[in-house]
Amino acid sequence: MKNTPYRGRFAPSPTGPLHFGSLMTAMGSYLAARSQNGQWLLRMEDLDPPREIAGAADDILHTLEAHHLHWDGPVFYQSQRLSAYDDALAQLAREGHSFPCRCTRKAIAEQRSTRSSQAAHFDACREGLPEGIATRTVRVRSGDTPIHIDDILHGPQEPYPSREVGDFIVRRADGLHAYHLAAVVDDAHQGITEIVRGADLLDCTPPQVHLQQLLGLQHPRYCHLPIAVNSRGEKLSKQTHAPAIARQTPGPNLYQALCFLGQMPNPALANEPPDTILRWAVAHWNVNNINKHNQVVA
Ligand SMILES: [Zn+2]
Repeated sequence: MKNTPYRGRFAPSPTGPLHFGSLMTAMGSYLAARSQNGQWLLRMEDLDPPREIAGAADDILHTLEAHHLHWDGPVFYQSQRLSAYDDALAQLAREGHSFPCRCTRKAIAEQRSTRSSQAAHFDACREGLPEGIATRTVRVRSGDTPIHIDDILHGPQEPYPSREVGDFIVRRADGLHAYHLAAVVDDAHQGITEIVRGADLLDCTPPQVHLQQLLGLQHPRYCHLPIAVNSRGEKLSKQTHAPAIARQTPGPNLYQALCFLGQMPNPALANEPPDTILRWAVAHWNVNNINKHNQVVA
């Protein structure tokens, strides 16, 4: 995709306000895009109503605006894309890449502990269910095609046997579309050329690349940024009670995110307005300066 114009994206879930870790990821993907004269799109991953918080989507947008992280085009909402995900599910089924599964989480764990390591990755339902058995989920077949991932920050990864991914869920027991399915369908639809996201999502990359192969979609490039952790080594998140980013102090927040990303901004920038900081950051963005390891944020 050498000649394709750069298109990046930030794709938060509206499960709570942005915290420092998510602002840093937003900024990393923004700077990667803008430094290559690329577009930066915003996708709201609002596919999981039980986990969502009323008002969180708008709150995230206001926080990004307060930091002058302006996106291109309208905000893209996954909740409006259900028919596209259904089409992808139908394609997988039609081409024999998916199968209905009746297993509970507990049954899967038992299967994996009692079977040989080779078979442990394959779901017992993949050969078909007897008539009249109620299905819970839809799973995708993993196979033996190696999965190649060349991460911009972490370098080329060992070819990953798709078998190791296991037969994974594309439609959940509650009927909702699974995250991997929606993400790859939308990355292709939005023409995303590079995915910059947190290293906590590294494990999502093999199943997503596997799905791209099955659905005949373009492979974007990947760049997994270090994640911000607390003193106990836990990722900053709603679950670990990370505080919401303060909208009143956009300059210092951006400055701190730049430091986290290893960009070594001049300390005088800390007190400048957001546009000045972002202009400097776009001009000086260097992915090689990013420390690959997760870092503690007090
Ligand atoms: Zn099963």
